[in-house]
Amino acid sequence: MEEKQEKVVIIGSGPAGLTAAIYTARGNLSPLVVAGRTPGGQPMLTTDVDDYPGFPQGVQGPELMGYFRSQAERFGARFLSEDAVTVDFSKYPFEIETENSKVLTEAVIVASGASPMWLGLPSEQRLIGRGVSVCATCDGPFFKDKEIIIVGGGDTAMREAQHLSKYAKLVTIVHRRETFRAQDALQELVKSKPNIKFLFNSVVEEVLGDEKVTGVKLKNTVSGEVSEMSIDGIFIAIGYKPNTDIFQGKLELDERGYIVLKDETRSSVEGVFVAGDAADYRYRQVIVAGGSGAKAALDVEEYLDKIKN
Ligand SMILES: Cc1cc2nc3c(=O)[nH]c(=O)nc-3n(C[C@H](O)[C@H](O)[C@H](O)COP(=O)(O)OP(=O)(O)OC[C@H]3O[C@@H](n4cnc5c(N)ncnc54)[C@H](O)[C@@H]3O)c2cc1C
Repeated sequence: MEEKQEKVVIIGSGPAGLTAAIYTARGNLSPLVVAGRTPGGQPMLTTDVDDYPGFPQGVQGPELMGYFRSQAERFGARFLSEDAVTVDFSKYPFEIETENSKVLTEAVIVASGASPMWLGLPSEQRLIGRGVSVCATCDGPFFKDKEIIIVGGGDTAMREAQHLSKYAKLVTIVHRRETFRAQDALQELVKSKPNIKFLFNSVVEEVLGDEKVTGVKLKNTVSGEVSEMSIDGIFIAIGYKPNTDIFQGKLELDERGYIVLKDETRSSVEGVFVAGDAADYRYRQVIVAGGSGAKAALDVEEYLDKIKN
């Protein structure tokens, strides 16, 4: 197995990892980005990104990630198109094994992000960014005066419904059980909105539409009855999973698997920094992930200067 010695290794190549790469590369640290098998992160799954500053007409998610990456390459960042499979932070230099190499490094930035949970329907995957969304903040304004559904019954679903009710004509929360598991206060809030309705004991069997969402096929979990509902959009709000399995037992994680931060970007291990959605279940935005990538890069520079002197 090939062995490399690096100053800084960035794990993940979404907005957080790529921004950290731009900053550390410009800081002459020649970062190695372990970019993963699906580089570019979550924006690769979407079409229009309308809220990232600097693009008054909006930008396609994959196009935006292409710009981030070219900018990092321009300053000398190097990329490895493999996943990090194991890490050993008990040794120094730290050790990271990828699929085909072992990398030793003086500092690490973990930017492995998170993955939204999907219903797992082929029709849903085909229509992502064409009426199927996982982000109310990102996509709410596209549904002004439209009729949409939200799938879920937890706190996130209630918050997303409340947010979307500011734009949509009608929001229907579709939940597979008879009662929500969200906090009472949030349930009360959504129940007070005249344009939010509820459909219990129901699951989405299929998302309908060729070029964009036109409706859903629903199944009643009690009677087994199948029906169709015309809608313009469907928001999936059944949760996110941080991509942190390889850090289990290596870094402090919270009960949901998010990396615990000791301050802005520091993990429980000195020299291992964190950026983006791997530690952030709250904001989940490209600009926020990018901002934390910049912070992590600046913190790495300071850390490497300190251990040298
Ligand atoms: C469909 C969709 C639409 C969205 N639309 C918007 C929008 O319009 N505006 C907005 O601001 N935000 C949007 N978001 C949210 C935004 O994309 C995320 O908040 C942001 O991408 C988080 O960046 P990140 O770099 O922390 O993580 P991610 O984007 O999740 O990237 C992490 C990367 O690390 C890789 N990785 C994971 N584990 C490993 C490993 N072991 N080794 C190597 N690589 C690894 C992953 O494969 C991935 O490429 C959207 C999200 C989704 C899913």
